[in-house]
Amino acid sequence: APVTVAIDGPSGSGKSTISRRLAAAEGLAYLDTGAMYRAATWWCRRQDVELTDTAAVAAATEVMPLDMGVDPGDPTITCDGVDITAAIRLSEISSVVSAVATNLDVRAQLRERQRAIIAAERQPGGHSGGRGIVAEGRDITTVVAPDADVRILLTADEAARLARRARELHGTVDDQAIAATRDEVVGRDAQDSTVSTFLTAADGVVTIDSSALDIDQTLAVVRRVVAQ
Ligand code: C5P
Repeated sequence: APVTVAIDGPSGSGKSTISRRLAAAEGLAYLDTGAMYRAATWWCRRQDVELTDTAAVAAATEVMPLDMGVDPGDPTITCDGVDITAAIRLSEISSVVSAVATNLDVRAQLRERQRAIIAAERQPGGHSGGRGIVAEGRDITTVVAPDADVRILLTADEAARLARRARELHGTVDDQAIAATRDEVVGRDAQDSTVSTFLTAADGVVTIDSSALDIDQTLAVVRRVVAQ
């Protein structure tokens, strides 16, 4: 039977790495929903839409020609024929994505696109051949796919999340790198928390704290939960 795994968590929790590796290991498709909010941000900027103009942002997102790659080995994201996989990770997107992600019309639209992708992976014609999907984000366990077969909240304490992101963004975990990362990680989660409650697990969601675990150890715990 097809399986849907929903994984939520804050930035630096390791959810993207874990979700991709889990999908690859289990032969499932992979959906990065955060990348969809980033893509909408990229698209609005390309169309010269003011991010504070909520109606214009919603209208632009509605017609966004987004193609989400769901291959965990190569999750390429294309918008209007442009490969935006790398561009949407830049700080010029990260620093403003919350403005788009807190737009409720945008959320309603992207939620429907996400549900359609998840549903397609439960059909034989999908990338996974009907095996299913790992979908990760902030509101997958609670809003997008509350009926998922497996629901996991991946957490890590602030020090661990800062260290991971500092290594990712600056290649080091010295004081300066940690300070530079603090705004990105803690600041963005604070902005996001106005619309999602991803820091507390809903009923039936398994919380995994990865603070003291490396990637392999975390993946092993997650796979044990999925196998149950
Ligand atoms: O996971 P990532 O850091 O790429 O997510 C980028 C942004 O997308 C988050 O800061 C948040 O504003 C938004 N997001 C969301 N709901 C999701 C996934 C991401 O609001 N399910």
